[in-house]
Amino acid sequence: MNQKFAGVKGMNDLLPGEIEIWQHVESTAHAVLARYGYSEVRTPVVEDTALFVRSVGETTDIVGKEMYTFDDKAGRSLTLRPEGTAPAARAYIEHSVQNLEPVSRWYYVGPMFRYERMKTGRYRQFFQLGVEAYGIAEPAEDVEQMELVTHLLARLGLTGVSLNLNSLGDDACRPEYQKKLVGYLEAHREALCAECKERLTRNPLRVLDCKNERCQEIARGAPSILEMLCQPCQAHFAEVQRLLGVLRVPYVLNPRLVRGLDYYTRTAFELVAADPVLGTASAVGGGGRYDKLVESLGGSAVPAVGFALGLDRLCLLAKAAGQVPTGRPELFVVTVGPAARDRALELATGLRHAGHRVELDARGGSVKSQMKRADKSAATYALVLGDQELAEGVAQLKPMAGGEPVRVALDRLEATLTELKQS
Ligand code: AMP
Repeated sequence: MNQKFAGVKGMNDLLPGEIEIWQHVESTAHAVLARYGYSEVRTPVVEDTALFVRSVGETTDIVGKEMYTFDDKAGRSLTLRPEGTAPAARAYIEHSVQNLEPVSRWYYVGPMFRYERMKTGRYRQFFQLGVEAYGIAEPAEDVEQMELVTHLLARLGLTGVSLNLNSLGDDACRPEYQKKLVGYLEAHREALCAECKERLTRNPLRVLDCKNERCQEIARGAPSILEMLCQPCQAHFAEVQRLLGVLRVPYVLNPRLVRGLDYYTRTAFELVAADPVLGTASAVGGGGRYDKLVESLGGSAVPAVGFALGLDRLCLLAKAAGQVPTGRPELFVVTVGPAARDRALELATGLRHAGHRVELDARGGSVKSQMKRADKSAATYALVLGDQELAEGVAQLKPMAGGEPVRVALDRLEATLTELKQS
């Protein structure tokens, strides 16, 4: 027997029946983003490994444990992108975009790769919709993005997602906070999980969002970064909150919200869903401000803010919320006799060119078996065309949901379908 292959563990196939929800989510996103002045960018799925090490951070889980890294034939170390912010910033710098325009609003949709432990809603290839705005340091830009994402989720019919908000401070205040946090956590070291014991030296902020219950309890008693922000960070954060109020965007203050990547400064936010379809993978997206990233990757000092949504999780939610668009044809053409078959091909082609969704099945067969296929295709109407009807220039249009067939003149077919679609 020939060997059968399976897809790579943690990487999913998206087939008809499922892809429709993805297309619906993506097309809604394209439309919403265009209204807010965002343009799409596409960058390669592989980048120089050092790009991620430098930007995401050496001590993060992503860089430390999860990257798909390999040497190409010339011995260069390349990595399948684990996230999209660093590649977008790389492209922004490489093409000197800051010299072309003071403000750029970009978004991307595409696969990301992380070697993670798998469970519901967590895969090794997953898709993100990422949004990045370069060139504006003002809090209003952070708020515009949070309003945008809230609006997009509402357009997708996803209620029950809450916006968590925090400030991570900046170089002036975060180191001081980190010192205080480490002091507090050291006193509880013994009670922390093994991973957090390690985080304590590598990346102590991450202890705050550990999912382990005992770690969470310890995190609840930890000092809050919001009490230690320097004056400029405090002013920025106050303005973010005031403007969210002006736009009536609901949010929850969460001083334990940190992000898994090192490049964030000031505003950090995450979108968390309560829906059980996601299991423990409740975050559908997250982002924040990263004012130092472009400069740290060799560009000029360009402030930026962005977020990424996990499309796999959004689609799980949209499906659970009953947002399942179908790929139903309007018309399934059933033919009797060879002359009718030729004419049916012509008719179907003409109708498709005019914008209708039409199916026919070249296998032919009895009317009964063709009607069965029409039923299975979930078409709204079947068009029955026999040699007899053809001679008269008519066909029978049968509503598949039941009801009497009606005779339609073939030269009126397109107009009739259009009218029916509009009624
Ligand atoms: P992050 O920047 O890591 O917070 O990722 C942003 C969003 O991408 C998350 O909120 C998730 O919705 C999604 N995401 C991250 N990792 C995975 C994964 N392994 N599988 C599926 N979705 C993911």
